[in-house]
Amino acid sequence: MKTVCWIVAAACAMTTAWLSFREGALAERVSQKAGTGLLAIEHDSTESDLVIFAGGTIRVDFNAKEFALSRRDLTEWVRDSARATAAYFGRFPVPHAHLVFEPTGGTEVASGRAVGRPEPKIVVTMGNRTKGSQLAHESLLVHEMTHLAIPDHDIRHLWLHEGIATYVEYIARAQAGLIPASAMWAELMRELPTGLPERREAGGLDGTPSDGRRYWGGALFCLLADIEIRKATSNRLGLQDALRALQLQGGNLSRLWTLERTLDIADRGTGTAALSQLYRLMGNRPHTPDLNRLWRDLGLIREHGGLVLDEMAPLASIRRAITDRPSAPLLVAEPRLLRIVDARMRELQR
Ligand SMILES: [Zn+2]
Repeated sequence: MKTVCWIVAAACAMTTAWLSFREGALAERVSQKAGTGLLAIEHDSTESDLVIFAGGTIRVDFNAKEFALSRRDLTEWVRDSARATAAYFGRFPVPHAHLVFEPTGGTEVASGRAVGRPEPKIVVTMGNRTKGSQLAHESLLVHEMTHLAIPDHDIRHLWLHEGIATYVEYIARAQAGLIPASAMWAELMRELPTGLPERREAGGLDGTPSDGRRYWGGALFCLLADIEIRKATSNRLGLQDALRALQLQGGNLSRLWTLERTLDIADRGTGTAALSQLYRLMGNRPHTPDLNRLWRDLGLIREHGGLVLDEMAPLASIRRAITDRPSAPLLVAEPRLLRIVDARMRELQR
């Protein structure tokens, strides 16, 4: 089961006033570097970093004294997660986001929370003994960044938010080369069945009280939509293009949209009705697709405890297209600037 995640639409007004005061000085420094199209991590103080890249900035609040892992390990995780998210959506979901790390006991990333208003903000609660080596396999940050890209909806439709965030955290990381495609498919094959309806379940995804249905039922909705869009467009477009259309129409977590509006705009982005049709099938009644047949059609064969990819399967080209590197990733960092940043980090760590 997934790490706990919340999306919340409002935060404390006092905090906002304090942040606005501090952002003034930071914004001036960003403007000197933004537009270079490069990725950088600039140390503003001992506790605050700024990740700057084409189309977005992320302010990172991390007090290294409260954690066992180094600032460098943490900023690499933030940078990799931001790069994967931005490559998936064509740009980072919002121009500026605030990322806060809060310590708790233990050795794991415990939970994440994304809010859209009054400013896009992600709070990650992390065990104080978490090791840097763990973060390379940790997808929670891409999950939370993806929440920032999707409009807020009525609470009955929370499954769509969690489903998209869960699906994209895997696909975006595979597209960015952070996880091998075969490992990603093996994880989806293991987890997606937990999103299927219970045998006697009468309802659909709307208003489901089940975490499994909300996260993995929503993710299954996304996989089925991805495949349907690709079938309808000769494999030229996918769910990624539908979600990018939301971005182009100003959709993000700070906006409250109806589900119908979100699905309609996303469908227009691919010239299909895939999402609206699937919602009619899965929104208010149980739908149980034959997953074993789906894996076979995609060319995913379980063999001797591992996964074999059948490239002759009927949907093998669609499976490959889903994890292909996006045609226009924006966050291809220039190594020169990164080396300067690394040198500055070493200075600060002495
Ligand atoms: Zn979530």
